[in-house]
Amino acid sequence: MFDKFDIDKLVNFTKTLKVLFVEDNEEARVAILALLSNFFDDIAVAKDGKEGISLFKADSFDIIISDIRMPNTNGLEMIEQIRQINNSVPVIISTAHKETDLLLESIKLGVNGYLLKPINFKQLKQVIKQICEKIYYKRKAKQYEENLEKLVNERTQELEIAKSKLVEMANKDPLTNLYNRRYFNDVADTLLSMAHRQQQEFSIFMLDIDRFKLINDTYGHNAGDVVLKKLSNLLTTSIRQSDVAIRFGGEEFVVLLPNTNIDGAVLIAKKLKEAIENIEIKIPNIDIIKFTVSIGISQCDCSKNAEVIDDLVHKADEALYEAKRAGRNKIVIYSTQTIV
Ligand code: GH3
Ligand code: MG
Ligand code: MG
Ligand code: MG
Repeated sequence: MFDKFDIDKLVNFTKTLKVLFVEDNEEARVAILALLSNFFDDIAVAKDGKEGISLFKADSFDIIISDIRMPNTNGLEMIEQIRQINNSVPVIISTAHKETDLLLESIKLGVNGYLLKPINFKQLKQVIKQICEKIYYKRKAKQYEENLEKLVNERTQELEIAKSKLVEMANKDPLTNLYNRRYFNDVADTLLSMAHRQQQEFSIFMLDIDRFKLINDTYGHNAGDVVLKKLSNLLTTSIRQSDVAIRFGGEEFVVLLPNTNIDGAVLIAKKLKEAIENIEIKIPNIDIIKFTVSIGISQCDCSKNAEVIDDLVHKADEALYEAKRAGRNKIVIYSTQTIV
């Protein structure tokens, strides 16, 4: 999983650690400090347990190396208090051979290493190696966990994006980028139920390009596609944010108009019809394509009727048929069979 702790590189690693060293005896302090400086660069020195605690509270340390017998607060009392603040920081205690009772006490406090005075380099290196190896692996494991978490977060984010792209792809028609029939099936009923709950009016258009087959036959299928795209762009930019335009079939579109009464719907339909009449699609060196649409409108006064979306579609379709029969480029309102 990660590199093995290399004793030859020990010093490279220990030099990155911060040490709190506590020793009351000046002679011992100078001697041990000299030995410690072979391994550590960053050593804070305290002369008794009390000073040690206040240094520990003010800063963060990777290792504590402490004498036991000291004035004010002794080493054991200091470790006890430090353990209450941080129970994982490694503690090495130094003590004389004869102080076995203190040594036993320190074991109870869960110290991590022991140095027997007088301390020599070999002994120090052995204890430091043992402690630092643990710190090294702990850090590596933490780093590994963090990297793993980062990776999982990144992958989750990528998946979310891919998922929303898939949902969009499933709901949209690739040629026109309008919503498709599948999306209509998913949301139309919900929108109409909302209108019922809020007792609002709800209108729909069914819009069909007139003699579209002739456009395909005359100018080719690609030109037909351009017409579909132009019309779809116009639809998208002409309706409100709460309206929904759907490519219902080949050259047939449905527009859902929540909270819109028949007068509002007719107004929008008229504007659309006029804007479509003004569209010119230039086919270089050949011709200019112009086209018209027929529109059937149906409406539900949701405070009175309990219609479902299929009823509205059916009625708009009938009105559309009537518009075609009346000569195309017309708007027909289902309820009144008025031709606009
Ligand atoms: P009407 O005025 O009665 O609606 O006549 P129409 O020619 O528009 O109707 P018809 O149903 O006879 O023809 C529709 C044509 O639409 C036939 C079909 O090939 C074409 N069509 C359907 N989908 C597409 C498409 O994605 N691209 C193109 N270019 N044509 C399409
Ligand atoms: Mg002492
Ligand atoms: Mg048509
Ligand atoms: Mg059609």
